[in-house]
Amino acid sequence: MSRRKQIYEGKAKILYEGPEPGTLVQYFKDDATAFNAQKKAILDGKGVLNNRISEYVMIRLGEIGIPTHFIKRLNMREQLIKKVEIIPLEVICRNVAAGTMAKRLGMEEGTKLPRAVVEFCLKRDDLGDPLVAEEHIHAFGWATHAEVDEMIAMTLRINDYLQGMFAGIGIKLIDFKIEFGRLDITMDNGATAHQVILADEISPDSCRLWDRETDRKLDKDRFRRDLGDVTEAYTEVATRLGILKEATNKGTPNLSVVSNDD
Ligand code: 5GP
Repeated sequence: MSRRKQIYEGKAKILYEGPEPGTLVQYFKDDATAFNAQKKAILDGKGVLNNRISEYVMIRLGEIGIPTHFIKRLNMREQLIKKVEIIPLEVICRNVAAGTMAKRLGMEEGTKLPRAVVEFCLKRDDLGDPLVAEEHIHAFGWATHAEVDEMIAMTLRINDYLQGMFAGIGIKLIDFKIEFGRLDITMDNGATAHQVILADEISPDSCRLWDRETDRKLDKDRFRRDLGDVTEAYTEVATRLGILKEATNKGTPNLSVVSNDD
């Protein structure tokens, strides 16, 4: 990986300078972390699976008109993306009570919410990504009113689409976290402006996905809660999406993929 300049290293991904201005290469690591990186592990094949799953989801969302940073997958672990200025917020959308919402509001996990609920958290690892109100976002200038409105509208559209997409493969979308970035665009009159686009990744690392029939968890909660078979669950998601030909026997995912451009 020394051939490119590293721009940033996060917990699960590395960003390298891209081949052209305005592009980056996003590399998916096998590292898994939880509870603000207090719990760590290397899960063989996780990065490959998340690269594939995120590619699939970003392409589908692009097809329904959601602007995303995804340009193309480069290889098993890397994708070419548009360089954006990340808005320092995690946008969480929930359909069913789980995780921190269940805990914070004293709800039983699995309780269906009356409607989709969108929350914002400040991206600050040192503070444990605290929940913030729109009032904080505006007062502290983390995003403009227009950007917040766009993020909420896009998040609800993404939720509608993904709920249907996962329902089609027997999976309930409990909740997910997404991030947005600002892309510089040049207008017809030569002036520049920002467009808010979907960035980061959408994968079992950032979603709660439960089997429709059994409620078996097919996401990162298997790691967070020591349920085991983490990569097997991610492989199951990829297989149901039609990304992998078939599930593997055990451990390392079957990387004989449906597309053949590796
Ligand atoms: P919770 O707030 O219940 O912990 O998480 C809600 C949803 O957002 C879950 O699907 C969880 O995976 C995702 N999420 C929340 N924070 C993070 C984060 O820092 N990283 C990732 N990858 N996902 C997150």
